[in-house]
Amino acid sequence: MERRAPDRLAGRRHQREEHSEGEDRCLRDEPSAGTAVQNVLPPAANDASVADVKRALFVDFGGTLVETRDNRTVVDVAGNPVLMPNVVETLMRVRPGFEACFIVSNQPRIARGDVSEEEVRRRFAWLNERLGLPFTDWRLCPHVDEDGCACRKPKPGMFLDLAQAHGIDLARSTHVGDADKDRVAAVTAGVGTFIPAREFFGW
Ligand SMILES: [Mg+2]
Ligand SMILES: [Zn+2]
Repeated sequence: MERRAPDRLAGRRHQREEHSEGEDRCLRDEPSAGTAVQNVLPPAANDASVADVKRALFVDFGGTLVETRDNRTVVDVAGNPVLMPNVVETLMRVRPGFEACFIVSNQPRIARGDVSEEEVRRRFAWLNERLGLPFTDWRLCPHVDEDGCACRKPKPGMFLDLAQAHGIDLARSTHVGDADKDRVAAVTAGVGTFIPAREFFGW
């Protein structure tokens, strides 16, 4: 996939983004069965120098994988997130082209006491199950801007942390998100490709 021009997000930025903020407590989950996905290497990987490169698909959460309203994750009667359109089909089709797949999500409502960190993690795990375990791992930033953390997008902390933990080649990796801060975080981290969520999922 090609790197997309930054202006692809013009006019849409800030609409659905989750307003998070904050800094140094980069939380991590160690997804239980998150690596159970059968990773099929793309047949195009016949270049020996590329064969052992680990490319990752980094995906934003709110407004990208699941619906948000007033900066909150929309949940159904059972308390589970409501998926954005085409998420199931698109991830199923694209996931085999990457050696790893991560959720990277600002969750400032944790800092504000509006939602617990445990509940956010539960939602990530629920989504992972719902989508057939596509996610290798995930990171969330529980801070607000005032915390001055290194993980809240547009800071690159979550990407850098995941890349180090999983041996990811960021330049060959992709980030999908719905907000300009997603794009900026990806560029700052050195992620080679950014794709606006609406384009990735065909909204
Ligand atoms: Mg978002
Ligand atoms: Zn943070």
